[in-house]
Amino acid sequence: MSKVSSSQIDRLKDKLKLNGYKLTPQRRAIVNIIIENKGKHLTAEELYDLVKIECPEIGLATVYRTIQLLEEIGIVYKLSLDDGCNRYELVNEDQVHQHHHLICTKCGKVIEVEGDLLDSIEKKLETKYKFKIQNHSVKFFGICDKCI
Ligand SMILES: [Zn+2]
Ligand SMILES: [Zn+2]
Ligand SMILES: [Zn+2]
Repeated sequence: MSKVSSSQIDRLKDKLKLNGYKLTPQRRAIVNIIIENKGKHLTAEELYDLVKIECPEIGLATVYRTIQLLEEIGIVYKLSLDDGCNRYELVNEDQVHQHHHLICTKCGKVIEVEGDLLDSIEKKLETKYKFKIQNHSVKFFGICDKCI
């Protein structure tokens, strides 16, 4: 479990405030769970089950709404693995673009790729199409080392 640092919470508070929202205890609890489960790519339902332990009064609809809000203001990133569930993780703070994912089609394991690796492709595309790339969602499907 990665610990939630106070600077992470401060940045979060600032981002919410900038968009006219407050860091309510429920929003904070949801973000805490996402941070503590870094790399696990939880679904909304899984998040709900974990948040309920700390906030028993919270409803699934509130969790959905909160995640949507966090996604809209760029705190949370939605990852769809083509299995019908959306998964959520924190937006990278130390990287301009979201990391890529390697997805094992046998066991469903999700591996995060270090580094963007797309810089030269992005530059070419931006020049050729006069298009400013802000982010990307790259998924590689294959077989992990345990399943080979
Ligand atoms: Zn990039
Ligand atoms: Zn596998
Ligand atoms: Zn990820």
